Amino acid sequence: MRAITVARGEAGSARLESVPEPSDADGGLVVEAVALGVCGTDREIVAGEHGEAAPDRKRLILGHESLGRVREAPEGCGFRPGDLVVGIVRRPDPVPCPACAAGEWDMCENGLYTERGIRGRDGFGSERFRLEPEFAVRVDPALGLAGVLLEPASVLAKAWDHIDRIGGRTRAWSPRRVLVTGAGPVGLLAALMARQRNLELHVYDRVEDGPKPGLVRDLGGTYHSGALEDLAGLAPDVVVECTGAGPVVLAVMRCTARNAVVCLTGLSTGGRTVEFDAAGLNRSMVLENDVVFGSVNANRRHYELAAEVLARADRAWLERLITRRLPLDRWREALERRPDDVKVVVDFGLAA
Ligand code: BGC
Repeated sequence: MRAITVARGEAGSARLESVPEPSDADGGLVVEAVALGVCGTDREIVAGEHGEAAPDRKRLILGHESLGRVREAPEGCGFRPGDLVVGIVRRPDPVPCPACAAGEWDMCENGLYTERGIRGRDGFGSERFRLEPEFAVRVDPALGLAGVLLEPASVLAKAWDHIDRIGGRTRAWSPRRVLVTGAGPVGLLAALMARQRNLELHVYDRVEDGPKPGLVRDLGGTYHSGALEDLAGLAPDVVVECTGAGPVVLAVMRCTARNAVVCLTGLSTGGRTVEFDAAGLNRSMVLENDVVFGSVNANRRHYELAAEVLARADRAWLERLITRRLPLDRWREALERRPDDVKVVVDFGLAA
């Protein structure tokens, strides 16, 4: 079968090649790939900045945003041939740490977890892959190709789950206004979840045109671009930061209401410095009971919450998030960044 593979830490080594059928060790479900979403993490892996093959392998099968159709399922496992599924990305560490032992591998304490298509385990960028039934999540067939948004949505379902828990530190928590920074797929899914909670939505992104302003407007939100300073008067109760850009991160920490919760989800590359008044920020965070926290990955419960979010969303709006679809032999173009891209997917040609 064909797969997109990349050599460990080697920039420019990605290629489409013929690889053996997936190993039984990956799980009892044999899944045929329907679509594969591409994100910034994949681009970093292809650039050799991130990612690790399995310890005994030189190359990693890329891809962690899956959508596939079950072809073979062991008797009594809860899945049947024909079911549409998405694979959970992270596997618990082998120790396991208390978080992984409790099924909360997204909160792994010792960092020995693996991630399919990212760290120590082959991903889903192949014509067929295998899954353990307990790491497969059923997708509503009515979603069609938009089912490929389940993995990124799971990351935001976790972010919102933690925002709610942190906000719940005061019995009076009743957030009203949300600011999302970054209108890529992650930001737009965060925005969708804000609207499903009936919150007043503001989205900031540096682009002024293309599909993003309309996608925000159609959620009932206000779109902001231009100077970061313009956010100063917004006073949101919740911020979901999805750019990972230093100046944006600092700007949002300073513009919040009292008792605000700021969730950082953007993975920055680091290495750039910004001058800022750390003591001033400390003072306002203390005096205003502000919380800033980071959030990554998702456990099974979050995938299930995300499946509910997608099922409740307007399907036409979700489909507009997928701005380019490419066949497997044009996978390289899927990794290119185009100005009007939101989510780009490799479409394996088996209509969802
Ligand atoms: C994935 C997460 C993963 C993170 C770090 C993201 O792109 O969506 O599942 O935990 O990268 O590797």
